[in-house]
Amino acid sequence: MAIRPFPKKVSIPSQTVVFPQICPHCLDTASERIPIESKGVLTGFYVFYTKWKYSAIRVPFCAKFARIFSLSNCVWNIALIITVCLAIALGFSEGARHDRGSGLLLFFLIMGPASIPMWLSRPGKHIRLLAVDSASIQFAVQDPAYAEKVAALNNTSVVEWYD
Ligand SMILES: [Zn+2]
Repeated sequence: MAIRPFPKKVSIPSQTVVFPQICPHCLDTASERIPIESKGVLTGFYVFYTKWKYSAIRVPFCAKFARIFSLSNCVWNIALIITVCLAIALGFSEGARHDRGSGLLLFFLIMGPASIPMWLSRPGKHIRLLAVDSASIQFAVQDPAYAEKVAALNNTSVVEWYD
């Protein structure tokens, strides 16, 4: 059985996107913009190399979501700094006996919990950039009403999602 986390897909036949001023997570008024990034998109296949393209588009979200998003990013960054500091301190105190295992354990002990808020507040739960090419921009959207609004604003229609 195919996993279908996103029920709707919007394919915009243009290089520019107009977003409704509502939040994809709660459909409330959007006031902040959060960049969403596509995964590596294969844009061409050549004999000796493949060319990957990454794109980011700034999507309007509500102030509450933006706050939670920046807070969880902040938690992540602080955890990263603590991990690096502790790893350096551990390296100095244990000297040559310091092994990679304890560093790795430290990393998981701190970064593991720190990644939970990041995971819960990811914009990708609500809207995801699927592909960008010279002819169109494609999004996967969680909320059907939001998908309809994006499609209407960009003179296109919502496509059913088949994974
Ligand atoms: Zn919201």
